[in-house]
Parts: sequence; C-alpha cells; structure tokens
Amino acid sequence: MAKKVVIAGAGLGGLSTALRLAYAGYEVEMLEQHERAGGRLNILQKDGFTFDIGPSFFSMSYEFKELFDSIGEPMPFELNELNPLYTVNIEGRDKVYRIFKDLEKLAQEFSAIEPDFERKAEKYLKRAGEVFHDTEYRIVKKNFNGMLPFLLSMATVPKKHLPKMFRSFWAELERHFESEDVKIIFSLVAFFLGATPFNTPSVYNLLNYTELKHDGYWNVKGGMYKIAEGIISMLEKKGVKIHCNTRVVSVQEQGGKMVSVTDQNGKVWNADLFVINADAASFRGKFLNRSGFTEKKLDKMDWTLAPFTIYLGVKGKMDGIAHHNYFLGNNFRQYADTIFRSTVAPDKPYYYVNVASKSNPECAPEGCENLFILCPVPDRRVKPDWHDADKLADDIIQDLGKRVGFDIQANTISRTIYTPLEWEQMFSLYRGSGLGLAHGMNQIGAFRPANKDEKLNNVYYVGASTHPGTGLPIVVIGSKLITEKITHEHPAV
Ligand SMILES: Cc1cc2nc3c(=O)[nH]c(=O)nc-3n(C[C@H](O)[C@H](O)[C@H](O)COP(=O)(O)OP(=O)(O)OC[C@H]3O[C@@H](n4cnc5c(N)ncnc54)[C@H](O)[C@@H]3O)c2cc1C
Repeated sequence: MAKKVVIAGAGLGGLSTALRLAYAGYEVEMLEQHERAGGRLNILQKDGFTFDIGPSFFSMSYEFKELFDSIGEPMPFELNELNPLYTVNIEGRDKVYRIFKDLEKLAQEFSAIEPDFERKAEKYLKRAGEVFHDTEYRIVKKNFNGMLPFLLSMATVPKKHLPKMFRSFWAELERHFESEDVKIIFSLVAFFLGATPFNTPSVYNLLNYTELKHDGYWNVKGGMYKIAEGIISMLEKKGVKIHCNTRVVSVQEQGGKMVSVTDQNGKVWNADLFVINADAASFRGKFLNRSGFTEKKLDKMDWTLAPFTIYLGVKGKMDGIAHHNYFLGNNFRQYADTIFRSTVAPDKPYYYVNVASKSNPECAPEGCENLFILCPVPDRRVKPDWHDADKLADDIIQDLGKRVGFDIQANTISRTIYTPLEWEQMFSLYRGSGLGLAHGMNQIGAFRPANKDEKLNNVYYVGASTHPGTGLPIVVIGSKLITEKITHEHPAV
C-alpha cells in the first residue's frame, strides 16, 4: 500500500510538494486553515473585482516549467513576460523610469543621469551573474543534512566572491554607478530579503542579475491565482483532497515519529509522513515546543517586512500608470534606515502598485481598474496596533492620485485593507511578516530552520522560512528538495 502523507498548509510550497508526491505514488491529503488553498498566493473577489492578494510577479519562471516537466504534465497556466519589468516614480524627478531588461533601452532611460550606463551595467551584472551561477547548485538547489555539509559546500564557492560577503549591496552599487537614482532602483530588491541595501551583503546583487539579465519577471495570464487553480485541479485528478477551514492545533508524537495531527474540531489525521507548509520556525516553537524556537527566540530572529495592502476597485481608466510600479519618496537612505524599526505608520510611505486590469481586463468590470497597493511596514513586534490603518491608506491613495493625475478617492467603488494583523491571522504569518524569515548570512542554508525535522524522522518542511527560502520560484525549489529527501528516505511503497 502507498504511504500516506498529510500536508499541513496548502500554500504554493504545500501544493507543489503535493503534486510531486502524488505523481511519485504517495497518497496525499492536505489540511488548510484558510477558506481557500494557495496561501499568500490567493485571491479576493469583491464588488465585481478579482484581486490577487499577494504575489504579483516572479523571477526564475523556469522553476515552474521544471515542476510540471518533473511529473510529465503540461503547465496548466500561461506565463507572460513583463516588459517593461516595472516603472519607478521617485518624488521630485521629472520623469518616471521604465525599467527594461534590454540594457540598451534601459541606457536610454538613464541617459541623462548615468553616462555609459550599458557598459557599467554589463560589468556589474556579469559579476552578479557569476555569484548566481556559482551558488545555484552549491547552495540554493542543494539539500543539507547538517552544518558540516553546508559549510563544506560553502567552501566550494569560488573565493573571488568572498569580498562580496563583507561589502554591502549599496557599496557594490557605488563601485559601479554614480547616479543616486540608478543605485536606488537597483537596490529595491534588497528589501525582499528582509534587510536594506545598506546592511545586506552584496552577494545578493545576484537578484539584479535574475531580473535584468537572466530570466526577467513574469506573471500569469488571467491572474496569479491561476497558478494555484492549475495545481489544485491537477491534484483533484490525482485524488488528493484539500480540506480547507481545517487548522492544525496540535500534533501527536510517538517513538521519534509524528503519528497524527489534530484539527480545531478535534478530528485526528493519521499518516506515515507529514509535510509542514506552515512557517517552519514558528511551527517548531508553537507545536513541537522546541527550545530554539520559543517566542522569545523567534522575536530575536530577523524577519522580512510586513505587508500593508490595499485593494481598490476604481471607476474609469487610469492612463498615467503602468502595470507594475514603485512610488518612492526623496529620502531613500533615511527611509531605509527607519522602516524596520519605526513604531508608527510611515509619514510619507513608499509603496508598490499593481494595476492588474492593464493586462487582465477580466479582473475588473468594463471601464474600471483593479489596483493592488503594497506598502511594506514593520512587523507586529515593532508596530502591533493598526487602528490607524485607514489614515495610512488615505495618505497613500491621495499621494498616488496626485502622482498619476487621477482622482482615485472620488472614483473608488471597492476598498479593502489588510494590515499585518489580517495577514497574520489569515495564514499564521509570524508577527505578520510577509515573506517569512529574512535571508541574512546567519539565516540561510544550514542556519535556516531545516527542511527535515531534527527529531521526528517522518516530518519535513517546505515554504518561505525553511531552506532555500522565500518567493514563489524558491518555494517550488524547496518542494523539489524535500521530495528528493522523502522519496529517498521513505519510498512510496
Ligand atoms: C503581499 C505579498 C506580496 C508578495 N509578492 C511576491 C511577489 O510578487 N513575487 C514572489 O515571488 N513572492 C511574493 N511574495 C512571497 C510569496 O507569496 C511567498 O514566498 C510564498 O507564497 C510562500 O509560500 P509558502 O507555501 O511558503 O507559504 P504560504 O503561502 O503562507 O502557505 C502556508 C499555508 O499554510 C497554512 N497554515 C499555516 N498554519 C497552519 C495550520 N496550523 N494548519 C493548517 N494550515 C496552516 C496557511 O494558511 C497557508 O495557506 C509576496 C508575499 C506577500 C505577503
């Protein structure tokens, strides 16, 4: 008889693991606390609009191809390459920068501020690309069974990259570019890692390589949730049941193994193997009482920023804005220095806006736009209370309206706000942190909560806070890594 696997959590990490395991012959069942599978990759349907609530684009699209190739099935959704990748609107500048993957075109955008941009960028990205390719298989796409194998693997990374561990992301940019705006734009990716460009090591310049040279950015025709829908319908065909509104509230262990988990209604779910897609750090503390993951210790770890998100249905077409846009103020360094620590909502917020209806008209009624606004804010360790949510939303909407020349407030027909509190409650995100544990050098590889449990031989973890880390393609890689471990250590039959 096939081994039974229960997966706690149906985010992308859980779903892609379920797919691989079901096709490898395991009997798989999924438990999801939210009303709909997908985790952070989810939707909100309201007032005739359909909003993707979280991720809006991704790099390394080939990881999705790998997922479906590995099970011999066609990809159940259509990828769409972003061009331009995004726009950047910096307060006080007389132009909005369009960021192209084509460096010749990008050089034209920057011609007035960064002479000889293309040559400089080629040089900068060549080095960043070397780091990417020298760590891809040695670190990111590799399973580690402990600290020693990880350190040995690290030791195989060419020594020429060593100075990049000690230099900041920003310092590396300063070695290549003069324009403050170019440096600001290139350093935006650092915030995804849970740090600022001023305190992130420059090895992470590799993210600029992934966006500008390697694979660019992609989204999905018909909306990002098509990814989850596509996987869910394939799972249904394989007989995998996803039980939504089912929250794991306790786990039962016996003889070095997990034997069952219990949901909020007292129902007990037995299995041979368990995959935890809930946060790999806080799950260990909350459900397994591990001393390394007490609330006190979790609070001392580095977490990524929390999302403050606004979903707006707007009457009328907004010509002054593209599909993916960043809106920044004119105090970048000061903003970066305070954003992780500030106990109050930002005064002049920096934010990202996605107008999904620009490329997916079906997500908004005729003649309307669908706006997703994301303002990264401190997590709930720093700012626990969000009674001022409406004021922050009003400030952002007013600022945005001014900058794109459209009266958004007067034309809003649907408005929803998720503060870090809602994000925490919906998906059990620790203190509302949006992308999970940060990716400083002390929280990667074997320093990150492992993808196999330290004590229970039949428990594995997948998702943002375990190895290799956060972001859609990265959790898909994570599902490949634990599938390798599971099929090797506990064959399906
Ligand atoms: C606002 C926002 C924007 C983002 N934008 C991007 C982007 O543009 N591109 C990108 O690549 N990434 C983006 N990300 C990050 C990306 O969404 C995540 O890295 C990825 O979705 C994580 O997937 P996961 O499977 O690890 O976790 P999750 O999606 O959180 O899935 C975990 C699941 O486990 C469930 N769960 C937790 N505890 C329990 C329990 N006790 N019992 C049962 N179920 C439980 C949760 O409800 C959840 O559904 C964004 C994230 C946010 C929040």
